[in-house]
Amino acid sequence: MRIFLSMVLVVLSITTVQAQNYPMYSEIYVNDFAGVLNADQRDRLRGTLKELKAKRGVEFTVVTLNTLQDHDYSGPIEPFATGLFNSWGVGDAGKNDGVMLLAVIEDRVMRIEVGSGYGTSMNGPMQRVIDGTILPQFRDGDYPEGLFAGVEEVIYQITGTYPGDYDAPQYEQIAKRGWRWAEGLIAGLGGFAWALLAPVGFGLWRGWKFISRRRPRKCPNDGTWMIWLGEKDDDAHLIKGQIREEGLKSADYDVWLCPACDHSHVIRHGAWFSSYSKCPRCTFHTLKTETTVLTSPTTSSTGQAKDDYHCLNCNERWSATRTLPVRTKSSSSSSSGGFGGGSSSGGGASGSW
Ligand SMILES: [Zn+2]
Ligand SMILES: [Zn+2]
Repeated sequence: MRIFLSMVLVVLSITTVQAQNYPMYSEIYVNDFAGVLNADQRDRLRGTLKELKAKRGVEFTVVTLNTLQDHDYSGPIEPFATGLFNSWGVGDAGKNDGVMLLAVIEDRVMRIEVGSGYGTSMNGPMQRVIDGTILPQFRDGDYPEGLFAGVEEVIYQITGTYPGDYDAPQYEQIAKRGWRWAEGLIAGLGGFAWALLAPVGFGLWRGWKFISRRRPRKCPNDGTWMIWLGEKDDDAHLIKGQIREEGLKSADYDVWLCPACDHSHVIRHGAWFSSYSKCPRCTFHTLKTETTVLTSPTTSSTGQAKDDYHCLNCNERWSATRTLPVRTKSSSSSSSGGFGGGSSSGGGASGSW
């Protein structure tokens, strides 16, 4: 009886393994069956993976699924990932250097499966990428960022180079690596430290600006301490363009007056963010620009826009037209053939969130 039962179990387990159906891929780079990426994000990820294939010959594919149950499978992700990898044939058939990142969103499990050419050498590094880079983002529900950062880190682990740096000189790559390390350290300190320090830093800066603007000044003629005039009293010492700038908040002026000789000293503080630009005629930051699109650009032809300029100080007006560049085609419908026929013997790492 016991033998019969175990035979039934064996048969059952074989049927569950055989019953799974793997999805068909529509391209070799990004197959977002779970729909966690928008078109721009898919294009960005595809660009990174395409560049890797062009520069290093490595096929790296990213797959998202809703749930493994949709594929008539229940069980750990590892055999499913290996089976999917081999049924698609990811990577070069001779080198077996393919990589597949599989994220099953509703089941909250993921795996990075690597081709048999890596042996077990990538198991540790892939585990660190999953635990340190991908899962923290996934736990926040930020699947796009988890995938972007994870893919970059995986590429670094397998090629020793980050995306975009393949042709960069050695010293530049080392410098970038250092910068990334520093970024990682800041991220490691946590948003907490940053959230705490940023307002303190901003407050100190504002305080220092305030103090330095109002620090006592001596008259250059007679050495008498000058008086700072408030916003209401300073207009008499400002010219029209300066008053206009203050009104439009594109600049702020401080006026200091000597009580002994009536010498006045005007200090300009330009605004950091202002929609008014510098007028080429009167030189004050009182120029307003209104843009009208005359013809929108398409993927095959350029467009045209008209900029209307009006200076609110000297009242100068003029218009100019400019050409808008051709829209770049989204390459989302491009599928570039099939995989190279590589295989995996189960190397890689997994995680859940
Ligand atoms: Zn004076
Ligand atoms: Zn002007």
